[in-house]
Amino acid sequence: MAAIDDLPPLREVIETHGLRAKKTLGQNFLLDLNLTARIARAAGDLQGSDILEIGPGPGGLTRGLLAEGARKVLAIEKDSRCMPALAEIEARYPGRLQVIEGDALEIDPLAHLTPPIRVAANLPYNVGTELLVRWLTPKEWPPFWESLTLMFQREVAERIVAQPGSKAYGRLAILAQWRASARIVLDLPPQAFVPAPKVSSAVVHLTALPEPRFPADPAVLSRVVAAGFNQRRKMLRASLKGVAPGIEDHLAVAGIPPTERAEQVGLEQWCALARSVAAG
Ligand code: SAM
Repeated sequence: MAAIDDLPPLREVIETHGLRAKKTLGQNFLLDLNLTARIARAAGDLQGSDILEIGPGPGGLTRGLLAEGARKVLAIEKDSRCMPALAEIEARYPGRLQVIEGDALEIDPLAHLTPPIRVAANLPYNVGTELLVRWLTPKEWPPFWESLTLMFQREVAERIVAQPGSKAYGRLAILAQWRASARIVLDLPPQAFVPAPKVSSAVVHLTALPEPRFPADPAVLSRVVAAGFNQRRKMLRASLKGVAPGIEDHLAVAGIPPTERAEQVGLEQWCALARSVAAG
């Protein structure tokens, strides 16, 4: 297949800059630039958007995003060892790549980005889910982003797109599907990465809806749903006891039988429950 750019292959970049993968940073690198270009295309309209990339590492996805025409990429990377490799990409695409060294959980990138903004990332799953929940639960909606294109362990990806009644259905599905549409766009076997992780991965693409599917306060919805699924085998009248006094009345207002389990309750009913709890 044709090279996506005239920079050195990623294997060479990793060797030149001594980027031996660190477990503590959850580093599993993608080396196939045709694959990273494919992930970049899944992110949607790149030419008309600024892209926030979290965890570029040696820059495989970054190069995919730039080669596919991203207007600008702002990349936040915690590992200082990656900076020289990323500087080479910056030089190849003058004015289109900005790199910030630091922890994505602590940096506010918005001052460096112009809407429309899309997010693309291949992150360690704990950082990825933490950021995903933050991106889905701002007080105001629509959020700063138009879409999120994120790599997760396959099992986490399934939790994001899960439907009621399934084992994977829980807080992530509800928060994601409440304000966004979410689908799995690509499956990747462990061998796509170096080093190969133990499990398969998948890319999830989420598009922000102009407004949530049903009204609810994000903090209350999050709290109610977390309580319900923390004890997912229990009936809701028991698992939600600590959420608000008179929880059975709130369940009745929301049209949820008190003997129901969290897994059986759909998005609309969760939102109705959150509204009733919020109203006191
Ligand atoms: N995007 C590259 C790729 O696809 O080959 C690297 C992916 S690797 C799974 C995850 C990257 O996220 C690593 O480069 C790691 O150093 C970085 N990282 C881990 N935690 C981070 C954090 N809190 N903030 C920013 N980057 C982080």
